[in-house]
Amino acid sequence: MARRINSKKYRAAQKAKAEAEAKAKAERKYYQEINQKVCPNCGAQNTALILYGLMNFDESLKRNLANNWVVLGGCDLSETNPAYECNECHHTWK
Ligand SMILES: [Zn+2]
Repeated sequence: MARRINSKKYRAAQKAKAEAEAKAKAERKYYQEINQKVCPNCGAQNTALILYGLMNFDESLKRNLANNWVVLGGCDLSETNPAYECNECHHTWK
């Protein structure tokens, strides 16, 4: 019985790990695709997604900031806010 519970726990842990890895992979792909967007101002392909609002500084956000995949736009949640920022010339656009 104990063995069965352990194996169930193990499978659940494996499943959670696989799900977390899949999520991290999908997130990386998403930000890498944004990073390849061409800047309408200078033509560089070094684009970051601008994040608005209060951020939870978790490991994934720290990594995304370190990679220049995201920049923080502050707490102004206006609808006219740009969505992207060029890491080369700092042009922002929607
Ligand atoms: Zn640019």
